[in-house]
Amino acid sequence: MQIFTRNNNRWASKPISADEVERWRAEAASGDIYPVVSHAAYLINMASPKPDVWQKSVDAFIDELERAEMLGLLGVVVHPGSHMGEGEAYGIERIAAALDLCHQRTEGFKTLTLLETTAGTGNHLGYRFEQLAAIRELCAQPERVAVCFDTCHVLAAGYELRTDEGYAATMSAFEQSLGLDLLKCFHLNDSKFDLGSRKDRHAHIGEGFLGLEGFRRLVNDPRFEQMPMLLETPKSKDMHEDVENLSRLHSLIED
Ligand code: MN
Ligand code: MN
Ligand code: ZN
Repeated sequence: MQIFTRNNNRWASKPISADEVERWRAEAASGDIYPVVSHAAYLINMASPKPDVWQKSVDAFIDELERAEMLGLLGVVVHPGSHMGEGEAYGIERIAAALDLCHQRTEGFKTLTLLETTAGTGNHLGYRFEQLAAIRELCAQPERVAVCFDTCHVLAAGYELRTDEGYAATMSAFEQSLGLDLLKCFHLNDSKFDLGSRKDRHAHIGEGFLGLEGFRRLVNDPRFEQMPMLLETPKSKDMHEDVENLSRLHSLIED
């Protein structure tokens, strides 16, 4: 499961009460929903060239890590950030510097920083696996950093997943840059835009450019049998779309 632990569109957050933590931990211990990750606030941009935005991003991400650690979450999924035109090398260094501060301030935490693969819209970094690897390698505590693989973003970034050869090539590119050990969860989203579009718009499973074929290999890949897979597809209040999307994914599993 993926949750927000704070308002995802605000810089400020209300602390989580001890009572809330206790209730969460009791539920988590008694249930079978495991693992749980959180998704960081969307305002966070650790690649920002603007000192105030960068500092607010560091502070907010420290808060995200503290909340996740309190709740016993596997990690916090975060978009690496946008360099706003300053260049990719600049952005990568800036993100690593921000993460170093965050990890220093949360010394010894178990919860991971999960850099998400992105579609590469505008100046957003993380659309090449090598970029995520470069950020991680620049970090003083690389062991705190792992990766979340978003299928919509990866297709939009230009990695094929819909053919045997394309799927194998994409996974081997991931393996070479990062290694499968660093892969901690998938976001399973179909894409409203095609391969290499660099656009980030999620579609229901099987209704976008990935199509059912785009998911068949992934849900049958023995390497990912135990891997958390999360839906970020459009949903209404009663979330009946999630039931539908999940049953489509289940129907693809061959035995
Ligand atoms: Mn995301
Ligand atoms: Mn995602
Ligand atoms: Zn997205």
